[in-house]
Amino acid sequence: MKTRIPFFHHDLGEAELEAIRQVFAGPILTTGATVLEFERAFASYLGCRHAIGVTSCTGGLHLALLALGVKPGDEVITTPMSFVATATAILQAGAVPVFIDVEPDTGNLDATRIESAITSKTRAIIPVHLYGLMCDMLKIREIADCHGIGVVEDAAHCIEGVRDGYRPGQLGDMACFSFYATKNITSGEGGAIVTNSEELDAKLRLLRHHGVTKGAADRERNGYSHWDMEVMGWKYNMDNIQAALLLPQMKRIETNLALRNRHALLYQESFAGIEKIHWPTSRNGAVHAHHLSTAWVPGYHRDQVINELSKQGIPAMVNYRPIHLTSYFSNTFGYKVGDFPVAERIGNETISLPLYPAMPDSHRDAVVQAMIDCLQALN
Ligand SMILES: *Cc1c(COP(=O)(O)O)cnc(C)c1O
Repeated sequence: MKTRIPFFHHDLGEAELEAIRQVFAGPILTTGATVLEFERAFASYLGCRHAIGVTSCTGGLHLALLALGVKPGDEVITTPMSFVATATAILQAGAVPVFIDVEPDTGNLDATRIESAITSKTRAIIPVHLYGLMCDMLKIREIADCHGIGVVEDAAHCIEGVRDGYRPGQLGDMACFSFYATKNITSGEGGAIVTNSEELDAKLRLLRHHGVTKGAADRERNGYSHWDMEVMGWKYNMDNIQAALLLPQMKRIETNLALRNRHALLYQESFAGIEKIHWPTSRNGAVHAHHLSTAWVPGYHRDQVINELSKQGIPAMVNYRPIHLTSYFSNTFGYKVGDFPVAERIGNETISLPLYPAMPDSHRDAVVQAMIDCLQALN
């Protein structure tokens, strides 16, 4: 096995190049008509009233918390089984992340643990739809309403997911998405927030652009007029170049989902009968967005498997080692091994296999064979 197998490859091409040429031909490179067009297409796909283009999911989460009124000293409940950005966004808003453990069969935040973590300081919950499988949003919404707290979904893995008939953003107050280089649609860097609330939409539009009332596109359309700074804001506005890259991908989103699904299901079928591999379980017939094809390898041989695959030119990733055990979080907040045993178990067992829409079948076959050989050798 000498051909190097990519873990991921984007599928940007002529349609995106043409879309960027059109932006170059116009007067506005920054936030303008192309961003609006993308926001409409994205909101419509998700069945939400508003979408706000931003520069990253991390920035989106930060603004979503601010829009809810989260302030220094508040607490936000979230999962340790995610990328660190979920928790650092809470710190950026000045609040304290309060982790709760996850469901053993999905890796998603365990909604039955939320109530015992709620205090008088709790202002919001950030569930993460891990790998592309949605959390129990019906239950999370019910608990949040009962306690008068907000819900911000980290849907960085889950543009296409559906559970109980709901998409991200339909039960949360807001959902945040990532268009980072390896995500399901990408502009290299980028993100969006969706919401059904007109009030939150208006706040987020101010917050993403310095808290000021007018931008370059307004000047281009209407000439100069004085602007005001109404609130403290940030610099998180998506630009027309990013939006141009994203628009053509919206047309391929379902086709690409089907291609990833096929690979993910064939991975699972190929490992059927191999007892050393488990997969996160789908609940209630949920549509899995399959951002990642992630297996759990019990017995803590995971690092050996990754090293062995890597020797054979096969890249595998770890999504994720739990946030509370990173140096920063354990040093700052005193977290230690044993605090969230389910997340820690998954953190020790998790291994993500190469997956992208145009992945050749021969690559998938090579990954499967190498995994099986490796697991048998470990015994
Ligand atoms: C990628 C990712 C983020 C951060 O997205 P950016 O757009 O890079 O800020 C946040 N949460 C999760 C779960 C992610 O996978």
